Amino acid sequence: MSVRVEVTADRQFGTNSYLVEDEDTKDAVVIDANLEPGLMVDLVGKRLANVRAILLTHTDVDHVAGLAALLAEFGPIPVAVHEAERHVLTEGKPLRREFGASLDRVENVTSLIEGETFRAGSLEFEVLHTPGHSPGGVSLKIGNNLFTGDALFAGSIGRSDFANSNGRALIDGINSKLLSQRDELVVYSGHGPATTIGRERKTNPFLS
Ligand SMILES: [Zn+2]
Repeated sequence: MSVRVEVTADRQFGTNSYLVEDEDTKDAVVIDANLEPGLMVDLVGKRLANVRAILLTHTDVDHVAGLAALLAEFGPIPVAVHEAERHVLTEGKPLRREFGASLDRVENVTSLIEGETFRAGSLEFEVLHTPGHSPGGVSLKIGNNLFTGDALFAGSIGRSDFANSNGRALIDGINSKLLSQRDELVVYSGHGPATTIGRERKTNPFLS
């Protein structure tokens, strides 16, 4: 399988949405739904990709704002999220008490489970629960690619000053599940540029 990764970022929060595609079958998933879903729709059209599911690293509003527009475009494909944040989608409850915005309810919700494989067409993702920024934060690994949401960034880590954050859990999860991966693994974060596990292990000032 040959995995291709492309990114779109919205202009308001610089939140990344990724298109992950199996170049052999054209099966694809979208990871996170930023505030400019039109950019992703255009990209999918250009690639002629067949989007099989939308995977969420977590449900902060800037990662789910584009969900309704993507589902309107791609049809009622499954939206995958960790159990601890499932209610944000099924009940339209906001993730944070600090931010009021609620979401349209999503019908077709499926689970991302720690240690299990998530399959979407010909794509298979390893699910790593990396909470702390939010309770249901996950990182997703496929081939030489690791999507870390707002847990790990190039040169930084996610905020853990929200009511339902946990700074200790965030660091523990990054150390035990992400920095334990091989150096060459490419890290695609929720915001900002890509990096590698090796570079972050050596240079990330929040992890030394
Ligand atoms: Zn976030």
